[in-house]
Amino acid sequence: MIPSVLPTYNRAPLTFVKGEGSWLIEADGRRFLDMGAGIAVNALGHANPDLVAALTEQAGRLWHTSNLYQIPQQQALADKLVDATFADTVFFTNSGTESCELAIKMARKHFHAKGQPERIGIIAFEGSFHGRSHAAIAAAGSEKMTSGFGPLLPGFSHVAWGDHDGLHAAIDETTAAILIEPVQGEGGIRPLPDQCLKGLRDLCDEKGILLILDEVQCGMGRTGRLFAHEWAGIEPDIMMVAKGIGGGFPLGAVLASESAASGMTAGTHGSTYGGNPLACAVGARVMDIIADPTFLQEVNEKAGRLRQGLEGLVASHPDVFEEVRGSGLMLGLKCKAPNADVLAAAYAEQLITVPAADNVIRLLPPLNMSNEDLSEALARLDATATRVETGNGS
Ligand SMILES: *Cc1c(COP(=O)(O)O)cnc(C)c1O
Repeated sequence: MIPSVLPTYNRAPLTFVKGEGSWLIEADGRRFLDMGAGIAVNALGHANPDLVAALTEQAGRLWHTSNLYQIPQQQALADKLVDATFADTVFFTNSGTESCELAIKMARKHFHAKGQPERIGIIAFEGSFHGRSHAAIAAAGSEKMTSGFGPLLPGFSHVAWGDHDGLHAAIDETTAAILIEPVQGEGGIRPLPDQCLKGLRDLCDEKGILLILDEVQCGMGRTGRLFAHEWAGIEPDIMMVAKGIGGGFPLGAVLASESAASGMTAGTHGSTYGGNPLACAVGARVMDIIADPTFLQEVNEKAGRLRQGLEGLVASHPDVFEEVRGSGLMLGLKCKAPNADVLAAAYAEQLITVPAADNVIRLLPPLNMSNEDLSEALARLDATATRVETGNGS
């Protein structure tokens, strides 16, 4: 009999009933140290008092109206995002997938409005992940996500990560945009070198096409800058955001330059919930905290400490771990042992990590994790590796 919850997930036998900062409490009372943060969502930890206050204050006043009316909380968050980034305008969504949908619609509409309706092509990259809608699975193009769901949305092509010649060859007069994650998340924590991101920006300018960045996972302070592309000193035309921006409340956004957004006039797009007062009240508080340079400086210091500790673990457990990769507090341990074994051994040490492709486990702690908890996480990873070595998996 099919379970009452559609069985599209292989769930771990863990039921968390409460969260406190970087800790999750299981129904049986065990405390787990959370180096996954709900896959880079709980950027400020669990039950963060500032976010609880922002949410409950708004919850007592007004939950929902409609985008038919002015929404001051949405306006305030849009202003903060525009002030802090390349963007001139913002549309709020409820997820990364919806941000992907709009980013693609916006790029096509941009050229349609410019009298170049033939420019519909989106060039994306192998190993990428952009969500689960038809556009998003067509963009990612992995067999695992598309199989059985055809016919796929046309207009997408794929280039291998780092294949410069292939990328040049893929661009023609029907191309609208290049879509890329500055740091691939699901694909195994693969950062695009700054030089390559600069090169992509130049290429898009030269060809007159748009650069869409998917910063759903790597944005909102995760790499130690508010957005990951800032490290390369470039600006995208369109950017997808979600995950960390709501700190655990469902919220996403598409940020765009005025030019890129020029086709999106009244009536061309909408959302019932997108930019709802509850989500935006929380998002505004998240932005205030994360966009603060002092906070980002601390993220970089913590990232340096975690990375150094992980390098040490790779050196001391060469049969379990192969290398550390990533940027800021978006780090991956490429494993030699099967990553599923490492994940299970970490559970046994009451440590939460997240698997990724390419036999990687991801470490995506809350950005405000204390140094003490980071040291504890390293100690538990050390014990995890010892478990794997001794075959005492779980
Ligand atoms: C998680 C993720 C998405 C999809 O976001 P959802 O909120 O699950 O729809 C898209 N792109 C990237 C890079 C992601 O990590």
